[in-house]
Amino acid sequence: MELLSTTAKRQRTPIGDYVRTRREALQLTQRELSSRAGVGGATVYRLENGVTDRLSAKTVTRLSAALNVDESEIRAVSAGQQLGAVAPKICFPCWEPGSVPDQIWNHPLARNCYRCGSELSPKCKDCGYPILISARFCPNCGKPYRASRN
Ligand SMILES: [Zn+2]
Ligand SMILES: [Zn+2]
Repeated sequence: MELLSTTAKRQRTPIGDYVRTRREALQLTQRELSSRAGVGGATVYRLENGVTDRLSAKTVTRLSAALNVDESEIRAVSAGQQLGAVAPKICFPCWEPGSVPDQIWNHPLARNCYRCGSELSPKCKDCGYPILISARFCPNCGKPYRASRN
């Protein structure tokens, strides 16, 4: 029987993926992020490796400042909002990332946007990871959800 090997395998959590992706987008090491945020290096490590997904209010404030994102975004991600088997379908051209998507897009029979006709999708265009509606970029590949406007 195998004991829990928390160090051997990285557990994936939405907030862990989020922090890692955002940190890498800013080209920071874990150590740089922890000193920039004023949180312990162990906190960053444990978060990114899924050892914990709990964040104190103070850590949320500090991390959001260091990662240059809204506190509400980090809170939503750590609460696991909208990340799971049932991701909402959205219209990339019409949807404002980080906002609540139009309910009509998520109708089971809806395939195209009633406004612009674009195909609706519950997944990141670049990597296929489920959309996280509380975020502005894909927690998996780091690409912004906002399509470039024509
Ligand atoms: Zn549309
Ligand atoms: Zn992606």
